[in-house]
Amino acid sequence: MKIGFIGAGNMAGAIIGGLVKQGFDPQDIFASNRNKERLNSLKTSFGIQLCENNQDLIAQADVIVLSVKPQGMKVLCDEISQSVQQHNNLVISVAAGLEIKTIEQWLGGNIPMIRCMPNTPSLVQTGASGLHANAQVTQNQKDFSKKLFDAIGISVWVPSEHDIHAVTAIAGSAPAYFFLFMQAMQEAGVKQGLSAETARALTVQTALGAARMLDQTDETAEALRKKVTSPGGTTEQAILNFQKNQLSDIVEQAMQACSDKSVELS
Ligand code: NAD
Repeated sequence: MKIGFIGAGNMAGAIIGGLVKQGFDPQDIFASNRNKERLNSLKTSFGIQLCENNQDLIAQADVIVLSVKPQGMKVLCDEISQSVQQHNNLVISVAAGLEIKTIEQWLGGNIPMIRCMPNTPSLVQTGASGLHANAQVTQNQKDFSKKLFDAIGISVWVPSEHDIHAVTAIAGSAPAYFFLFMQAMQEAGVKQGLSAETARALTVQTALGAARMLDQTDETAEALRKKVTSPGGTTEQAILNFQKNQLSDIVEQAMQACSDKSVELS
């Protein structure tokens, strides 16, 4: 299967980078983009095939990934609908908020379509993607798409398209939450006297270590936390402080605001 990306910005670049690092043949990966400089840099980094225009890409790829900003999707669909109808490609949209039926309608109807909500850690093969397919998608196409997104991390099928809003809150937008938390930790470490380099190295390694520990056990996050929180100890002081400031409520409200925005955009 040949895969083509229309709109080769941050998200497409992350997926392309992950696929190539995972051993996908760059000759089977196509991209077209308004900004030609960006296209050339992807060719230099990953050796993929560049297309002169979107029509060219649709003619060459079996699967096309629409990875333009949501606000640019209608204009793009108007431009490519005839070609997509002619070539009957599987269409995967990674656009936040836009429903399958909306894009399908813009493309002229009766299109096999998958909506995917990926995230940028795909670039380092630790992406987390949620997928939902419409009724026209065959089992083969589903299997290929899952393989595609599993190559750059993990992916899960969600039974209802509405679940994509929750996927956006817990995965699509969520790398930024961890960056924010790690930024705050680094800044606090520097305030306590560490150099910026040391604070960064210790923060990153601790985040990686905690994620790996949770990933490699059947224990819950709560159980692991309790194991490292001795009564009367140092960790307990930090945890009590987070609880006093209602960290769980802050996280819940932030994720709700995120998924509400996703609903509003759709
Ligand atoms: P981006 O602006 O970095 O990339 C979009 C690219 O599309 C640009 O390079 C632009 O030149 C190109 N483009 C626009 N219209 C075009 C057209 N008609 N034909 C060809 N190229 C065109 O945006 P991004 O952050 O990569 O986001 C892309 C999509 O991915 C969005 O729909 C977004 O909702 C989704 N997404 C992004 C993230 C993220 O973390 N960035 C996470 C999940 C989903």
